[in-house]
Amino acid sequence: MAVVGIIPAAGSGERLGASGPKAFVMCGGRSLVDWSLEVLEAVCDRVVVAVPAGFDEGVGCRVLGGASRSESVRLALAAAPDADVVVVHDAARPLITRDLVESCVAALEGWDGVVAAAPVADTIKEADGAGRVVRTLDRSALWAIQTPQVFRADVLRRALDVDDAVLASATDDASLVEAAGGSVRVIEAPAENIKVTRPVDLALAEALLRARC
Ligand code: C5P
Repeated sequence: MAVVGIIPAAGSGERLGASGPKAFVMCGGRSLVDWSLEVLEAVCDRVVVAVPAGFDEGVGCRVLGGASRSESVRLALAAAPDADVVVVHDAARPLITRDLVESCVAALEGWDGVVAAAPVADTIKEADGAGRVVRTLDRSALWAIQTPQVFRADVLRRALDVDDAVLASATDDASLVEAAGGSVRVIEAPAENIKVTRPVDLALAEALLRARC
């Protein structure tokens, strides 16, 4: 059974305000993508990284990413026709652990997809365009979805075989698998599996990564 890791790392990361692509911003002494690459390489048979133009030379198997995150995943998956199981993990989450990836892969038995997630701690309300609260959701059943996301490769390939507009509107791959009728389950991730989006996240990730050493 070939387990292939895919790291979408082709985003510009405008919200971080860095001078270059987010995945190549330094954090804890390495680029963000290198932290995830090390963990996925320890668990997967091989890893494909989707990178922005100008970053396609370097260590590991790199492919040019696409216009949207899911398009980048589709392009990387096309470079892994041998995959039976796919581990997708965003370069923006450098605090991934080997234990979490292995738990997700082990939990795939009987499912089409397994996603790392955190139980929602805040109260979640829906508001209209004017800011008026429409309703309050029952948070006891809500999960904030993260990566890694692990899939049966055939199911993920079919789920990604949709129009570019549908790909562009997807914020994760599991939602495409769900839309294609696939079964997906959540696995609780450690609290430190944060996503680097804004400068404050980068500072927090830096502190957490340095505390590991
Ligand atoms: O923008 P956001 O942080 O949600 O992106 C999540 C991940 O998807 C990042 O690791 C980013 O590099 C990647 N991405 C990509 N191709 C794009 C857009 C985002 O690989 N076109």
